[in-house]
Formats: sequence, structure tokens, C-alpha cells
Amino acid sequence: MKKLLPTSTAGSLPKPSWLAEPEKLWSPWKLQDEELVEGKQDALLLSLQEQQHAGIDIVSDGEQTRQHFVTTFIEHLDGVDFENRKTVRIRDRYDASVPTVVGAVARKKPVFVEDAKFLRQQTNQPIKWALPGPMTMIDTLYDDHYKSREKLAWEFAKILNQEARELEAAGVDIIQFDEPAFNVFFDEVNEWGVATLERAIEGLKCETAVHICYGYGIKANTDWKKTLGSEWRQYEEAFPKLQKSNIGMVSLECHNSHVPMELIELIRGKKVMVGAIDVASETVETPEEVAATLRKALQFVDADKLYPCTNCGMAPLSRAIAKGKLEALSAGAEIVRKELSNSL
Ligand SMILES: [Zn+2]
Repeated sequence: MKKLLPTSTAGSLPKPSWLAEPEKLWSPWKLQDEELVEGKQDALLLSLQEQQHAGIDIVSDGEQTRQHFVTTFIEHLDGVDFENRKTVRIRDRYDASVPTVVGAVARKKPVFVEDAKFLRQQTNQPIKWALPGPMTMIDTLYDDHYKSREKLAWEFAKILNQEARELEAAGVDIIQFDEPAFNVFFDEVNEWGVATLERAIEGLKCETAVHICYGYGIKANTDWKKTLGSEWRQYEEAFPKLQKSNIGMVSLECHNSHVPMELIELIRGKKVMVGAIDVASETVETPEEVAATLRKALQFVDADKLYPCTNCGMAPLSRAIAKGKLEALSAGAEIVRKELSNSL
């Protein structure tokens, strides 16, 4: 029988301190050239092992080979000038210096395919691979060429589809697109955001997922969360459209967030990766807390469609805390798994 409640993470995990300065976003690499290539692979192996030791069922690369979940992908594309930087407001929340789109964007070579092949060689467990979504990509750039967010999103969707097809061929089981921007630009989500995402998954036979969250536990995000009031209903805007889309799975933030759990009802029929680990807190959840979140989610998701997960990536946390959180996720899922099998 297929294991119920398979656990996974939303994506990133902390890097070892010899590879990049820990607990920091966009942390520069500490190695160069050949040493860097080898160091990234070693870190990927370590990250895999940490997931396995914690009992995580669907494993990932822990995003060990990327500096940032959006920027690193964009760095590999033609048409983007990284020298020519402009300051933009990311997700209407904080200013960041970002590269400029200066010409037609194109993917001259695969971005993560070699990394995926390497991970595939190391394990027979299901693999999930995260890519940035088209809307979140355009939101992390200054566009001086297309002069249209929608047009650029469609171009990125085409490029993401090329990458996704090759990741699938490399043996990836679930391809996930990270779209935190879906929680911010509601009109665009409904006008073309979901449609561009569907373009990105066109022709794929593997499982597909979209991850929509309230961001890493960095100050700009936690400050923003304070302005959202006691009930966070952002998911209400994108979910109806996503429910009708071809996307198979939705990864969302639940534990310690103010998202009313019943919003999950709006994506009934989809597989749901329920965030049962708070990535914005250094307190490690107890297995019982994880179980409580999963039990609540079970009111709105069928057990065979529930995937216990983290709220978001854990890159900005310390390795020890991330490890504790992974173990809590596994143990909490196991509690509920037992309850479910007893009630059969
Ligand atoms: Zn996230």
C-alpha cells in the first residue's frame, strides 16, 4: 500500500558553513571554480542525508546549488544583464537591487538538470524539484525590454517548461513552482498568473505543484505579516482559479499562520502540501503540534491527498534547528498516520 501522509519540505534547507555564510539570504559562496562545483555537490549529498535521517519521504536537493530561489535560475538566462541593476519593490514589500531585462529572454542551456541527475543517482526515493514560478520571476527583475509584466511572464513560462521537461526526463517525480507573488497580485493571478503556470507545466507527465506562501522568516516578511490582520485570506483570491487548473498539488502555509484552515476547501480535489512547520520561528515544533495541524487539515483534505510539509524554505535557519524541525515533521506525520490506520 502507498504510504499515507508522505512528508517533504517546501524547498531550501540551510547550507553548511564551509559553502556559504549560514542564516543569510543571497549569502555569497565561500569557494571558487572547481572547488565550488565539488562543494555544492557535497552539500547536496549532506542535505539529502539529513532529510533521510529525519525520515523525510519525498526528498529534494535542499537548494544547495543555488544562492537564491529566483536569482540563480535567472542568472542562467540570456537577455538579463546582471551588471545593470535597478532597485525595485519586491512583492510590494521591500526594495532590492535586481538585474535588468535588456533583450529577449532565452535559456541557452539547462539550469538544474545536471544537479537533478546527480540527486537521482543517490536515492530511489521520490524527488521533488523546485523552480521559481513565472510571476515571482518577473517580480524579482527590472524589465527594460518587454515593458509588460504579462508578456515577460509568458516568455518565462516557455523557458520554465523547457527546464521542467528536462527535469522530468532526469527522473524528478514532482516539479514545484514557487509563486509567493500569488499572495500579492490578485488581479494578475486571475488574469494571467495561473495561465502562465499552466503553460510552464504543459506536456509534463510527472506530478506538478505550486507553492504559495508568506515568505521566508526574514524581517521584511514578518513586518508585512503584522499588517495582514488577524485572519489571512489571501489564498481565497487564487484558489478558485487554481482548483480549475491542471496543477496537481498546492503547497501552502498553515502552522502558526493566520490562514483559516477552511480555505483549503476551495482547492478540494487537489493534493495539498500542508505547512506544519513554521519557518519564521526558531522554536522547534513538537510532534504533537505537527499532528494537531495535520488533523485540522484532514477536515478539508482527503487523507490520500495530504502531504505534510514545511510552510516555506528553511535556508535562513540554522542547520540544527532545521534538523529538529524535519524530525518533528516526520514524527508528527507518524502520529496521524497511526491514528488513520487504527480508524480503518
Ligand atoms: Zn515559500
